[in-house]
Amino acid sequence: MAGSYTYTPAVTEVGTGKPIGTYERLSAEVHEWDPRTVDVAARVADLVRERRPDLTVEHIGSTAVPGLPGKGIVDLSIETMPDDIPGVVAMLYELGFGPQPGPDPWPPTRPMPVGSIELGGKHYRIHLHVQPTGGDFTRDIAFRDALRNDPELRSQYEGLKRGITSGGAVEGLRYTHSKTRWILSVYRRLGFAPPPIAPPATIGILGGGQLGRMIGLAARTLGYRLAVLDPDEHAPAMSIADSAEVAGYDDVAAAQRLAARCAVITYELEHVGQGVVAALDDRRRPIRPGPYPLKLTADRLAERRFVEANEGRVAEWREVASPTEVLRAAAELGYPLRLKAARGGYDGRSQARIEGTEAIAELDGRIGWPALLERELAFEAELSVVVARNVDGLSRTFPLACNRHDRGILVESTVPARVPRGVEEAAAHLAESLATSMGLIGTLTVELFLMPDGSLVVNELAPRVHNSGHWSIEGALTSQFEQHLRAICGLPLGSVEMRAPAAAMVNLLGEGAPRPARPTGIYEALLVPDTHLHVYDKATVFERRKMGHVTAFGSTVDDALARAREAASHIGWAPADAGIPTRANEA
Ligand code: ADP
Ligand code: MG
Repeated sequence: MAGSYTYTPAVTEVGTGKPIGTYERLSAEVHEWDPRTVDVAARVADLVRERRPDLTVEHIGSTAVPGLPGKGIVDLSIETMPDDIPGVVAMLYELGFGPQPGPDPWPPTRPMPVGSIELGGKHYRIHLHVQPTGGDFTRDIAFRDALRNDPELRSQYEGLKRGITSGGAVEGLRYTHSKTRWILSVYRRLGFAPPPIAPPATIGILGGGQLGRMIGLAARTLGYRLAVLDPDEHAPAMSIADSAEVAGYDDVAAAQRLAARCAVITYELEHVGQGVVAALDDRRRPIRPGPYPLKLTADRLAERRFVEANEGRVAEWREVASPTEVLRAAAELGYPLRLKAARGGYDGRSQARIEGTEAIAELDGRIGWPALLERELAFEAELSVVVARNVDGLSRTFPLACNRHDRGILVESTVPARVPRGVEEAAAHLAESLATSMGLIGTLTVELFLMPDGSLVVNELAPRVHNSGHWSIEGALTSQFEQHLRAICGLPLGSVEMRAPAAAMVNLLGEGAPRPARPTGIYEALLVPDTHLHVYDKATVFERRKMGHVTAFGSTVDDALARAREAASHIGWAPADAGIPTRANEA
C-alpha cells in the first residue's frame, strides 16, 4: 500500500523550515553502496547532538558497511531509557521526522520515525530506530561491525542481497526468507541469539481450553511450570496449571499479572484482546508465536490480504459492512457464498452460508460487521499443515492432514493425506513462507482447500497448535505441542517423522442438553487395539462441544480411521440424573 504522501524534495522545504524532509514509501530496489549515505548519517547525528548532547546516533544497516549494496535507505539507531523514548520521538518530529507509514509500524516502545535529506542533488530516505536500553541496539551494531571487519561475511551477504533482485516475485520472497535465516545465524554466532528458556521457567498461556491443556502437559513433561489465563475457573488447562488468572481474554491487568510470573507468553486462541497484546508486547519477555501473527489472524480481512501478498491463493472475496454491501458484492461474486465476521469466529460460528438474495435481508444482527464475503468453493478435500519455526528461522512441517468437517466443526483428521507428492511439498513450502513472512516463532497451522485441479487455496491461518495436529501426540516423533514449546523456548526443533504408516483422529463431540460431563463407554473404546483416548475434563458437556478425541494408528489410513471411529462410537455422555458426582459435590 503506497498510500498518499506529500513529497518534500528539499532539505529546508518552504514553509516548514525543518531540516528533515518527509519520507516517501518506494518499492525495494538494490543499489550499489553510496558513500554519501555516511554524510547523511553524520548530518542527522549533528542535528540530534545540538538538541540532545547525551544521545549518540549510530549508523547501522547496509549503508553503514562500505562496499555493501542495499536499498539505499539510511538506517540509524539511538538507544535510550524506555521512559525517554516519547521525548526523543518528539524531538525528532521537531526536526521534521514523521511517524512510520504503513499498516504495521514498529510499536511505541521501539518506534522508528522516518524522514529524508537532500544531499548533492540526491534524495536520501532515513529510518531512525529509537531503541530502549537492553533492546536490539547493541546487536545491530555488532552485526554492522562484523560486516565491516569480515570480507567473507560481507560477500556472503552481498550474494544473498543480489539474489533478491534477480528472479521473479516468488523467488524474491524465498531469497528474502533465506536472508532472514542467514542473518539469524550470524546473530547466533555473534552471541545475540535469544537464550533458551530452560525449565523450571514458567510458561504463560492465554487461554485454558484443550489446546492450552495439551501445551501444558507437554510443558510439564519438559519440566516447565505453567500459568494460565482463562475466564472459566474450570477450563481444561486449569487443573494442570501452577497458577491461574481467572479473567477475560481482554483483561489487560490480569494478563500483566500473568506475564510478571512468566519467562515466555504463548496463546491457544487468536481472539486475545488487542489491548492485551499491546500491553504484553513490552520486550520484558517474548510473546510467541508473536504479537504480529496474532494481530494478523484475529482479523479475517487482514489475513486474506496477507496471504495474497505472499502469493497464497484465497477464494475470491470482498470486504462488506452491511446487508446492502453484501447484496452488491454478491452480484459480482455469484452464489453460493460464505459470509464470515472479520473477528471472533471459530468452529463455524459467526459465519453464514448465503444461497440467494432472500437470505441477505435477515443477516443484520446475526453477523458482526465488517465481514468477509467469499465464494463457496467446491473443493476436493480439506487439508491442513502445521509448521513450527524456531528462533533461528529454521522450520519443520508436519505431514499434511486431510480433514473432514461437519457444519464447520472438525470431526476427523487422517494422516498422511492421500495427495500427490507435489501437493504436499507446495503446502509445506507455503506454510514455511507464511510463517517466515510474519516473523512467527512457534507453530502456525494453514487450513487449505484442495481444488479439483490439484491447486491449493488457503482457507484460514491459525498461529498456534491445531485440532488437526492432535494425532502427533502419539503419532509423530515430536508432537505439535512439544514442537511448539521447543520453538517458543528457543530450543532446537524435533523430528516430525511418523511413528506409524497412518494415523486417524476422531473428535469426541458432546450431545444433548448442558450437564456435568461424565464420559461413558471408555472401557469398550479402549478394547479397540492401538487406539488412544484423550478426555479434556471440561466441567459441562453440551451439543457439539469438543470434549476429547481418539487417535488410532495402522498400516493404512482406512484401517486407522475405521478403528478410531469404532473406539469413538463407544464414547457417550451420561445423562444429568445418572447419579455420578459433579464437581460441586465430589469434594
Ligand atoms: P472457523 O474459524 O470456524 O474454522 P473457517 O473459515 O475455517 O472458520 O470455516 C469453517 C469450515 O467451513 C471450513 O473448514 C469449511 O469446511 C467451510 N468453509 C469455510 N469457507 C468456505 C468456502 N469459502 N467454501 C467452502 N467451504 C467453506
Ligand atoms: Mg477453520
